[in-house]
Amino acid sequence: MKTKSLIIGSGPAGYTAAIYASRANLMPVMVEGPQPGGQLTTTTEVENFPGYFDGVQGPKLMEDLRAQALRFGTQIISGLVTDVDFSSRPFKAVVGDGKETIEADTVIISTGASAKYLGLPDEAKYRGMGVSACATCDGFFFRNRPVAVVGGGDTACEEAIYLAGLASKVYLIVRKDYLRASKVMQKRVFENEKIEVLFNTQTLSLGGEELLDKARLVRFKDTPQQEEFTIDIDGFFLAIGHQPNTAVFKGKIELDEQGYIITRGKTTETNVPGVFAAGDVADPVYQQAISAAGMGCRAALDAEHFLMMNE
Ligand code: NDP
Repeated sequence: MKTKSLIIGSGPAGYTAAIYASRANLMPVMVEGPQPGGQLTTTTEVENFPGYFDGVQGPKLMEDLRAQALRFGTQIISGLVTDVDFSSRPFKAVVGDGKETIEADTVIISTGASAKYLGLPDEAKYRGMGVSACATCDGFFFRNRPVAVVGGGDTACEEAIYLAGLASKVYLIVRKDYLRASKVMQKRVFENEKIEVLFNTQTLSLGGEELLDKARLVRFKDTPQQEEFTIDIDGFFLAIGHQPNTAVFKGKIELDEQGYIITRGKTTETNVPGVFAAGDVADPVYQQAISAAGMGCRAALDAEHFLMMNE
């Protein structure tokens, strides 16, 4: 398969790049990745995407973007890019087990970012047995049961509020003595009677027979004074930020020390001419659906300009 523009990843950045690239007649091919639609498909209501006065459900927003990309002729392929060759043009991308290779004159990387875990040995043991990084995916299993959410940002607050609508009790475990979340989210958390915020607290271990049923925590008050205690919980939700999905591009393209793709100045250009990056994968700062969409637009325009100058 050959294309003028290959788009890897299908979040707001990828779909917006696809809309612009297809309207520019680049006949883009998009490889959707492991989670078609990206992170917003695991979210509930999105209230801050312009144009949706009453808010919109994350999955619906992504369906709309996908339909718009298809309407202008984007070819969407299910699957995962498992290898890339950016050493010469046309660039090559291997999909899945290697049976399919796509050749592309330009590539737009929009593979997004994934949830981080604390790194406790027990986290892996209880994954799917009480440990989750997605409240909207798994919250349903914890109806009328106690749960904990780790993190102090907007995601943690959003997940805690969502879970409070299902669970019997929600502990919000925050390592500092303040929430980093926006004021409006903080207010909603503090006003919710089911949520108990545990400040200055970190998780030491998780426990339970087969399924998770407790967590051992430590509260740092005035160092070195500290207090260890156990909470009974059936669900343990991580909301401590994200890491960029760039494993397949390591050594092929310039990444920063956290693994985010480095783009040049105000453009979406990477260090490889003809390869562009957009969205959370190249943006450790803003990480919003609308900023990702804007970057996707810029990547498609940059790709179009590159083709014009090089054809
Ligand atoms: P953030 O990076 O904003 O917050 C991560 C939180 O996790 C921080 O409180 C951080 O603590 C904590 N944390 C990180 N590592 C650890 C660790 N090892 N142990 C314990 N706690 C840890 O990530 P979010 O995912 O919350 O948000 C990302 C971006 O998305 C933000 O810009 C946010 O505003 C935005 N967002 C907006 C929403 C909305 O508008 N509705 C909804 C969700 C996200 P510390 O503060 O100590 O560093």
